[in-house]
Amino acid sequence: MRVAAIIGAVSLACSTTTANAAPTAHGPVLDMHVHAYGAGGQGPPSFVCAPFPAFKPLDPGTGGKGLPGYMRSMFGEPDCPKKYRSASSDDDLRTRTIAMLRKHDVYAIAGGSPAYVDRWLRDEPTRILPAVGAGSPDKLPSVEELRQRHTLGRLKALSELSLQYQGIAPGDPRMEPYWALAEELDVPVGIHMGPGPPGTTYFATPLYRAALTDPLQLEPILVRHPKLRVFVVHAGYPMKERMLALMAAHPQVYAEFGFLTIGYRDSDIWPYLQSFIDAGFEDRILYGTDQMVWPELIEVGIQRVWTAPRLTRTQKRKFLYENAARFLRIDPAKTGILQR
Ligand SMILES: [Zn+2]
Repeated sequence: MRVAAIIGAVSLACSTTTANAAPTAHGPVLDMHVHAYGAGGQGPPSFVCAPFPAFKPLDPGTGGKGLPGYMRSMFGEPDCPKKYRSASSDDDLRTRTIAMLRKHDVYAIAGGSPAYVDRWLRDEPTRILPAVGAGSPDKLPSVEELRQRHTLGRLKALSELSLQYQGIAPGDPRMEPYWALAEELDVPVGIHMGPGPPGTTYFATPLYRAALTDPLQLEPILVRHPKLRVFVVHAGYPMKERMLALMAAHPQVYAEFGFLTIGYRDSDIWPYLQSFIDAGFEDRILYGTDQMVWPELIEVGIQRVWTAPRLTRTQKRKFLYENAARFLRIDPAKTGILQR
């Protein structure tokens, strides 16, 4: 009942949303983790569970390229109470995602290739905070191209760097020019350190390695580039101790919870988040949906945070907006939070 009441209030309050002043029940949101790409960005049409009730066992005897049975059970015809269908086309994905941002007063770090990001910016130049991301240094634009985008105001972050899916460590020498550039331009960097789709090593990204989740891999880079601003995407899940160790030693590092707030169970995500608060990092947790091809996730994530057990209203506001505004040094909703 409580969930339904709050969701109802959110919908009602959002009906008069405008670009800069939207009276929502939850206040403005800064989503640190939206993908601006095409409807095929995650392969064929699919469903996502929010959350997944369980991560099913795989019988390797049914393996082989494609693993259709396992894939179908997770993303094709998943058995879960709440599931959302992927967008039908690039236009459908872009327009519905932007509609969700407006409805729920969300500003989003939206990363992808420059062509897609620029297309999204054309439709929504206020709420889309442009980023550039890629899965490998070879797929990123050149340092000079990124410098130009920064001059044009089109590089608010270098994110998401999903190097882990290509088996590339953050310390790979090909990444060094990008770390140096981000430090020089004072542009935050979001790097994927956490889980991928279960079994992705066997059906989609053969080089993905769970071992590359280890957040302490960032330590030499942070020391080499002391002005670098990094947020760890998926908060190093489930390597909590190593993430907390990194954050304790390097107070400039923030943890972004990404897909955990969408696809992981209440019994998993909220204790994980709470452990960061208990360790004293309440001001360094960042909200993000990891919205890929399922536009409804923009509101699903907010609703889950807003109804999360134990979190106070103040903690929810920090998580949903205030910490990100401070970290990015921008206050797009003009709440005045940076002056506090
Ligand atoms: Zn992502």
